[in-house]
Amino acid sequence: MNHIESVGKSENFLDQIIRSELREGFDEKNLKFRFPPEPNGYLHIGHAKSICINFGFGKEFSSPVNLRFDDTNPEKENIEFIDSIKNDIKWLGFNWDEECYASNYFDQLYDWAVHLIREGKAYVDDQDQVKIAEQRGVPSSPGTNSPYRERDLQTNLDLFHKMKINHFKPGECVLRAKIDMESPNMHMRDPIMYRIINHEHHRTKDKWVIYPTYDWAHGQSDYIENISHSFCTLEFEVHRELYDWFIENIPKKKKLLPKQREFARLNISYTIMSKRKLLELVESNVVDGWSDPRMPTISGMRRRGIPPDAIRNFCDKVGVSKRENIIDFALLDFCTREVLNKKAYRLMAVLDPVELEIINYPEGKNEMLTAENNQEDSSYGNREVSFSKNLYIEREDFKEESNRKYFRLSIGKEVRLKNGYIIMGDRVEKDKNGKITKIFCTYDPNSRSGSGTDESLRKVKGTIHWVDKNNHEIINVNLYDRLFKIQSPDENKEVDFKSHINENSLIKVKNVCAESSIKNVSFDNYYQFQRKGYFKLDSKNDKLTFNRTVTLRDTWKS
Ligand code: ATP
Ligand code: MG
Repeated sequence: MNHIESVGKSENFLDQIIRSELREGFDEKNLKFRFPPEPNGYLHIGHAKSICINFGFGKEFSSPVNLRFDDTNPEKENIEFIDSIKNDIKWLGFNWDEECYASNYFDQLYDWAVHLIREGKAYVDDQDQVKIAEQRGVPSSPGTNSPYRERDLQTNLDLFHKMKINHFKPGECVLRAKIDMESPNMHMRDPIMYRIINHEHHRTKDKWVIYPTYDWAHGQSDYIENISHSFCTLEFEVHRELYDWFIENIPKKKKLLPKQREFARLNISYTIMSKRKLLELVESNVVDGWSDPRMPTISGMRRRGIPPDAIRNFCDKVGVSKRENIIDFALLDFCTREVLNKKAYRLMAVLDPVELEIINYPEGKNEMLTAENNQEDSSYGNREVSFSKNLYIEREDFKEESNRKYFRLSIGKEVRLKNGYIIMGDRVEKDKNGKITKIFCTYDPNSRSGSGTDESLRKVKGTIHWVDKNNHEIINVNLYDRLFKIQSPDENKEVDFKSHINENSLIKVKNVCAESSIKNVSFDNYYQFQRKGYFKLDSKNDKLTFNRTVTLRDTWKS
């Protein structure tokens, strides 16, 4: 297939870059992409954007996409993170071509570093990082050369070898590229290539005590893997010159060289998007681990009940741009509702029950009413819901007196019980504090939904959900609010972002009454508790516990 012509969907600027290269003769067979996470935390929704971009191009052009772990920082990385990343990418619906690790290239990178030393393009510096940073200076004026910059070749080779064989302590020396201390681009002022880190690596174990920096490892890994387009976020734009310099200066056999191109990070309101800060939330027990349903992590969203297609649709809608902006969390909710409306099985559950007695319904009678599992899709079939004289309804669905705008139950007014009969409020019973303990009503025996009578078709203003008092299950539900109280919790660097945590972001509701068919729920499905929102089964211990994914409509006031 020829991909030079647009495939009809709206093109983003990365698309345009690729297509214009194809028009200029770049062979489509040589397109290759990668997603390069550092295994120092769980993936978040920002990574999902990068995944959708890279794997999206893979699908669009039928090109391979590598998963490459950028594992150059052994102090912060581990196998748990690697496993979670792989799991999350698969769950999002993508498959990588090769599973790669920057650490696979440590030998090659070392050899290339030796080559740069031999070429007079790298040297060992005995100064500490503070001193090195000082000498770098500021962009507007040239930096100062290190006193070790002119070391002779043999000394550099010896010292670098000693660095490798664990002769020095961390911080005693580093290997730096010898580029240009006067460059207006600070990243070109003799950047560090290797530092000593005395920490076991999760893959190479104790083989290495020197580790390549991001800049030294990334482009070379792209080159080794034949990546054609290396997409990253905007903050790396200033690294591009260095990316190209390293590639230019290593000994090469290949003609096709990778290109780095940058796009804007995804930021979402009322949350944070940095693994380091998410780790802080986990370690300070502000949340229940990386997969807490309030976390913006992929695993948190999965546990919350957001389906993978909703995340992919969200990333599509957000698009790819060159300018940073903050996306409203409501857009993700919108995408979630859109998918769940089609997918979710419907059930009835009463979160805050109050008893309702139908005065004129026969004592001891029990009916099984038919209810659709999903009115959007008849292939979901029907279920039976138990109905009798005594029911539970939502406390907020009743008011003794009401105005014209109140469409729920009140004295002298009618509502329909979902999938059941039309009832009219009659009177209430209260405790000594005036709290309603029981509502009495009458029903119209000919009005049952689906019974085909004129009354069954009669329209009343409101429909409320209910559960049979004599036949139901007690479950727990977790309701969530935003994790942070303000839109951009990490904007002000002076203030600890954790001080903006919303203490009421989790409400645990016990003794929720649900229709008895809830016994059949599974972890694989999505549910709508009618009128209450979309819910995901979280555990089957003791009682069933559900997490509310999202309400049916936006109830957040912003
Ligand atoms: P964090 O600061 O959260 O740790 P990172 O950029 O250090 O993020 P990496 O594991 O290095 O995390 O990122 C892997 C890929 O995902 C990179 O290409 C990176 O640019 C991209 N990425 C990370 N965060 C975002 C984001 N918020 N929006 C879009 N892409 C992102
Ligand atoms: Mg990173």
